[in-house]
Amino acid sequence: MKTETNARLSDTGDEGSTGAGVGDAALHDSEGVQWVLQPRGTPARRGPKHFDHSVRKGIRLSDYERFLGADARALKQLFPTGPARLWGATPPSKKDGKAAAVAGRRVGDEVLFYAEKKFIARARILGLVRNQELAEAIWGVDGKQRTWEHIMALGDVVEFDVPAQPILEGLRLGDSLRSLTLVSAEGRARFLHLIDQSAPVGPGSIDPSPCRGAALRRDDVFRALSRLKTHTKDQRPSRHKPITLLWAIGRLAAEQGRMVEWQTFRDEVGPLLRDFGLPDSRVTPEYPFWHLRSSGLWDVEGMEDQKATPTPSKLTAARASAGLSSNAAKVLRRSLARAEAIGLICSKYLGDIDREEVLKRVGLAGYASASGEIPDGGRGGGPVPRRPGTSSQLDRDPRLVESIKVMYEHACQVCGSRVETKYSYYSEAAHIRGLGKPHDGPDQLSNLLCLCPNHHVEFDRLAIYIDEDWAVRRNSTGAVDYQLKRHADHVIEQEHLRYHRGLCGVSDRST
Ligand SMILES: [Zn+2]
Repeated sequence: MKTETNARLSDTGDEGSTGAGVGDAALHDSEGVQWVLQPRGTPARRGPKHFDHSVRKGIRLSDYERFLGADARALKQLFPTGPARLWGATPPSKKDGKAAAVAGRRVGDEVLFYAEKKFIARARILGLVRNQELAEAIWGVDGKQRTWEHIMALGDVVEFDVPAQPILEGLRLGDSLRSLTLVSAEGRARFLHLIDQSAPVGPGSIDPSPCRGAALRRDDVFRALSRLKTHTKDQRPSRHKPITLLWAIGRLAAEQGRMVEWQTFRDEVGPLLRDFGLPDSRVTPEYPFWHLRSSGLWDVEGMEDQKATPTPSKLTAARASAGLSSNAAKVLRRSLARAEAIGLICSKYLGDIDREEVLKRVGLAGYASASGEIPDGGRGGGPVPRRPGTSSQLDRDPRLVESIKVMYEHACQVCGSRVETKYSYYSEAAHIRGLGKPHDGPDQLSNLLCLCPNHHVEFDRLAIYIDEDWAVRRNSTGAVDYQLKRHADHVIEQEHLRYHRGLCGVSDRST
């Protein structure tokens, strides 16, 4: 089951690759966003002109129709409406860094354009094609009759001005960038903060819409979450990083500060690692404290960068602190993203431990069920009053509850069965996205299902979910159990089902 779920998550992790048929194979092996450092080229080589033409403005594919060849379909799918933003590289002539970069870059990677000791723009690789005719038509040929035939299709272009030196020297690439260079996801994670802190430059910037920027960060965060590097012991992945991330998300949910000093971290995360880590694994909170940085989701402050894990006493002496990066925190403060992240972490990394228990310990108890209600009588916190003793425990509109039961004549929308009572039938009205904290779902028909008690429990406790095509699937296997029955007058909001799938760890973030 895990493989199915995971494969699906990473499939949807990269926008732009869908259906285009470019770079798909590379995508599946990738372990995180890499950097492709790309010199823009000097004026003598028409670098600024090319950049303005094919990246800043972008080309119209229709102007180049007869050069597109076999890539026509893929490129049109990548750029269905607006301009196509493209950049290319000449074929590498020898086995060097450039050859490695051309071969190793992947769809989803981030390109940093470099000029005059600065990084001047970033972009996302949406597709990779090799097309000599198209390259010649756009950029011409150089003195050796070569052209930029290794083409990157780019999205999410943002221009800025960032001094390149700290990044290049940090990566041991010298003080200026001479050639196309690939930087590992880990290397990128270490220096990403130097790029992201820089605000896009005003008038000249492209794609300034905040939505696009937000989508980009969200995509990055989920890609990183689904590709955490974990140590393995007896072929079982360590749970230290995922547990630490859940703890950090719990702090966000409780609106506590992002960065935490080492001693507090140790006192809070240490016991979690002891209780939920692999049996016999040593309790070493300094490992996730320090090494989560490689995920790109995590900041450590107060410590000089170094290869070895700092000892606890060094962390104490330095008063080091750590926490989610500001981008990750920004994304995970939003409710849908948070639900999806928690579902993802639990199902991908913590599948074999007691989800309810671990979520309770990190202050996220309500995320163990769709209703947000806590099975042992506790509660998720929050202002919504719950009546003790009733089956639904929430103040909600009784007329809605009645109308959904009447609409379906008490037949379960999953299995169709009706529970008979002496005088009538019995069914339950289930909220798809629970009312009150932490899910904050609306009390509306579009957020309600009529279910039998068994399927109500299975739906609420995330054993089953409903996919985009209304198939009722078993979370443990992905198998289709039933097709959801829907009354013609019952409009069910897909967004609520999506939220529920997020809790189940089977989100579809690409949409
Ligand atoms: Zn049923």
